[in-house]
Amino acid sequence: MTQRISHWIDGRRTPGTSGRTAPVYNPATGQCTAEVELASAGEVAGAVATAVAASKEWRHASLSQRAGVLFAFRQLLHERTDELAAIVTAEHGKVLSDAAGEIARGLENVEFAAGVPQLLKGGFSEQVSTGVDVYSIRQPLGVVAGITPFNFPVMVPLWMCANAIACGNSFILKPSEKDPSASLFLAQMWKDAGLPDGVFTVVQGDKEAVDALLTHADIAAVSFVGSTPIARYIYETGTAQGKRVQALGGAKNHALVLPDADVEMAADAVVSAAYGSAGERCMALSVAVAVGDVADRLVEALAARLPKLTVGDGTHPDTDIGPLITAAHRDRVAGYIGAGAEQGATLVVDGRAGDLPSGGFFLGTTLMDHVTPEMTVYTDEIFGPVLCVVRADTYEEGLALINSNPYANGTAIFTRDGGAARAFQFDVEVGMVGINVPVPVPVAYYSFGGWKASLFGDSHMYGSEGMSFYTRGKVVTSRWPDPATSTVDLGFPRTR
Ligand code: NAD
Repeated sequence: MTQRISHWIDGRRTPGTSGRTAPVYNPATGQCTAEVELASAGEVAGAVATAVAASKEWRHASLSQRAGVLFAFRQLLHERTDELAAIVTAEHGKVLSDAAGEIARGLENVEFAAGVPQLLKGGFSEQVSTGVDVYSIRQPLGVVAGITPFNFPVMVPLWMCANAIACGNSFILKPSEKDPSASLFLAQMWKDAGLPDGVFTVVQGDKEAVDALLTHADIAAVSFVGSTPIARYIYETGTAQGKRVQALGGAKNHALVLPDADVEMAADAVVSAAYGSAGERCMALSVAVAVGDVADRLVEALAARLPKLTVGDGTHPDTDIGPLITAAHRDRVAGYIGAGAEQGATLVVDGRAGDLPSGGFFLGTTLMDHVTPEMTVYTDEIFGPVLCVVRADTYEEGLALINSNPYANGTAIFTRDGGAARAFQFDVEVGMVGINVPVPVPVAYYSFGGWKASLFGDSHMYGSEGMSFYTRGKVVTSRWPDPATSTVDLGFPRTR
């Protein structure tokens, strides 16, 4: 019998009742390994009801009790990393070391959130008026939801739930239906760490479950990470319902390689960031902008590295690049390679050619040179192991290209010139910038998020912005006057 991947409601695995399911594959074999339940609106409403009840209790948990749960969860995540990485690789396809890397970056968020007693400190001003004090406090929102993409089934949920739970909210996760098992493992770990039932909930599902969350009156805030069209939809629908929404979208991240860069070092960095996780990262570098005479040297250095990369099953220790998430996605990426060649790009390395393992959703690495901004390989987010080289005559031309792109998630400059790097940092219109750092994902005590079509909403994810997103501020003005001095005063209160 096919394995069923259920919901997690009120602290236990809960079978679905909608009668709808979706297949889950092992991308390395192409085999369907399970069916995931797809929640109906009614099932979502039931899950929200348990989360509401739990949030009423959880907001009373002291800061040290909450921190205690986070410390215990952190320890379990650390101890069970290998087990969880295997679950990620079995459904996502990324190599085991990459899966362990995503868990480690997610764990940083748990460590950050464990500092909640310090992070939720308010301000206090004594004697703002005679005998009057003012202080600020931050309180939880109630029930918040997170809707997450397939490409980071552990890290992205942890970007959200660690802060949300630390702030005293109940959190409902709607993971990607393509790799849903990690969500249940996280749920079990939260329970084992001592989190009360109902504070962390998982509803498996597709658009129906998402719409039910977006329109449910008891969901106060929605965090979303995924593709740009869905991010826009989530933002518009959620905010129209009066919810707080942060919706992170897709990307087209450029590396700007200046003529003075160490070409071998830049090529190592760009190859790592373009092809790691088969290019299925929102911070993958998918465009290298080669400035001036560095172009030929850079393309040669990039091309030299690709034959050394092994494509295969992510569980094998010698594999560098695993399969893509689905057969349909693999075919879509392959379609872009063909279109790029037809539109005039030079196919330096063609990932469709050569020996690829059979059975799974594999695609080799592709390098395209002489890509121009109107080609679809440039305009669209491909989300696969495809790197486009665009040639620019000057730094200014390269910068203008990056700044005119509708996406603005991450970017990186490669140079030995500190002044050029400083100018780039100042002028580039992108949310996360690397200087000789190819994947500049901020550490947990900064916040993550792009600009323009890569983020809808005002708030970046995790870090201090995450703490504000999951709380609302209250300001208390207080006095303890001597009753003997009390009078009626109908004037507007002024400071005295
Ligand atoms: P996706 O947009 O297809 O799905 C994301 C989530 O939305 C999933 O939970 C899915 O079930 C749900 N969803 C899909 N279609 C929906 C619809 N019509 N209505 C409501 N909900 C819907 O994204 P994906 O393919 O899972 O992930 C890859 C995308 O995510 C890429 O575009 C990538 O750049 C982006 N991403 C962005 C970031 C970031 O931080 N900016 C991080 C990771 C991934």
